[in-house]
Amino acid sequence: MKISSNFDSGSIDVLDQKTPDSIVLKLKNDNQSSNRQWFNFRVESTAGVPHSIDIVEAGNSTFPKGWSDYQVLGSYDQNNWFQVPTEYDGNTLRINHTPAFSQVNYAYYIPYTYARHKEQMATAAAADFCKHTVLGSTVKGRPLDLLTIGYDEPGKKKIWVIARQHPGETMAQWFIEGLLGQLLSSDESSRSLLNSAVFYIVPNMNPDGSVLGNHRTNAAGCNLNRHWHQPSKLDTPEVYFVRKALHEKGVDIFLDIHGDEEIPNSFIMSGNSSNALKKQADRFKRQYMDANNNFQIAQDYDSQKAAGVTVCCGSNCGGSRNKSTATDYVAHHFGCLSLLLEMPYKSVATGTEGQRSNPQNINIELGASIIKPLSDIISISREDCSERAALTSVG
Ligand SMILES: [Zn+2]
Repeated sequence: MKISSNFDSGSIDVLDQKTPDSIVLKLKNDNQSSNRQWFNFRVESTAGVPHSIDIVEAGNSTFPKGWSDYQVLGSYDQNNWFQVPTEYDGNTLRINHTPAFSQVNYAYYIPYTYARHKEQMATAAAADFCKHTVLGSTVKGRPLDLLTIGYDEPGKKKIWVIARQHPGETMAQWFIEGLLGQLLSSDESSRSLLNSAVFYIVPNMNPDGSVLGNHRTNAAGCNLNRHWHQPSKLDTPEVYFVRKALHEKGVDIFLDIHGDEEIPNSFIMSGNSSNALKKQADRFKRQYMDANNNFQIAQDYDSQKAAGVTVCCGSNCGGSRNKSTATDYVAHHFGCLSLLLEMPYKSVATGTEGQRSNPQNINIELGASIIKPLSDIISISREDCSERAALTSVG
């Protein structure tokens, strides 16, 4: 038997792999920080034999509450992923699985590899109204890719979408895959949106962390979503270059895409504090709910807090109201709609092995259907302008 994780986005420590019924593993820390949650490993063993895999000390991970009611994902071909029976006793996460083939991968969520990221850039750049540029280099010298979709012309709204500041939140890049698919298609609503808006998309803010198999941090051990107030070219160049581009190009709507370890639903938190923008955010969420059954507004960080649950998140974490998160920074500096989207690891209603359903399709569809609330918000801001113009001509 062989257990390996020495590949793009792999991560696990092997403590014991002598027999299939008593495999013992441990989560690995991010390369330069004590965060640990992400895992992704391959087991080469005997098909048809029951395997019991213990991930010990999971209770000491960064988000221990993430393990209850959670199911590990497995795949034989790394294309089709399914849930495998998983138990959690408060400390050990146990996988009980009889693999049908001699090689199987297990992961915290469906990986989005750097190889796939490169393919995503190439496919998008082939469209004549999509331009690929490099904003700068990461800590390890990887390119920080930006896709510009549509044409930046006077009067057009600038929509920024960034994803995967936290590399283990791979659902964020699956979301981008859906968004790109929709924007680059001949779909009428996308064409119409591109007549009044241009998209700036950073599909992966943290390619180093993604390749390293980190969960939360970049190669220098920094949580990028805590460095927007003062990014450094040395330790957080990813934020430094994206923030610079935001200031150069401007922004009218900002979306930061994440995954949440604990809440089993997709939700949006607004970084805005003005009443007008909070209202816009509420309207956006309702429109999104209409467009996609997997988006909801009943459960979010505010509802958790109201229920007395401690939350630590991207935007409204008690200790981080210092404009250090992307959504807070953009809301404060640009005074525009600035939203944090979270999608769950504890995915609801996904398939078992026999069904071979792919949970990432939920993320892809959420990406595609965000066109509707975006188009709606763009149209109301245009109405605002024509109202203002009408008032001016009367006055
Ligand atoms: Zn996150």
